Amino acid sequence: MNKCDLCSDPIYPVIWKNNKFRLVEIDDPSYSAYYRVENIQHVKEMTDLEEKDRMELMQVVFTVESAIRTCYKPDKINLASLGNLTPHIHWHIIPRFKNDNHYPGSIWSKQKKFEKTKISTQTKKKLNAIILENLNQ
Ligand SMILES: [Zn+2]
Repeated sequence: MNKCDLCSDPIYPVIWKNNKFRLVEIDDPSYSAYYRVENIQHVKEMTDLEEKDRMELMQVVFTVESAIRTCYKPDKINLASLGNLTPHIHWHIIPRFKNDNHYPGSIWSKQKKFEKTKISTQTKKKLNAIILENLNQ
C-alpha cells in the first residue's frame, strides 16, 4: 500500500472523527470555515470504497456543507475531490464569497488579491457545535 501525507497524523485540528473518517479544519488565511473530510485509510478512489462507506463519507460532507450554509451563509460552497498530488480520498468543503481572493475561480487558481478572512469566534463555535451535533447523532 502506498503511503502519503494524509496517512500521517493530521497537521490540522481534528474537529470530529470516527473509525473511518475524520474532519479537519484547514488553516488558510484566505478561507475561514474551510474543512476537509479525510478517509482514514489510504484509499485512492471513491469507487474503491464499499458502497455503504461511500454513502457515509458523503453524508459527512453534506452535514458539514449544511452547517456552513446555516451559520456562515456563503455565496457558494465548493466541494472538491482532486487528490492528484495526494491520491488518498479527501473532500474539500470551502465556503466561497463573491469578494474572496479567487472568486469566481477555484481557490487553487491564480489569486486576484490577498485579504485575510476571519470568521467570528462566536460563529465558528456555533458552526463546530452544529457539525458535531449532527455528526454524532
Ligand atoms: Zn494516504
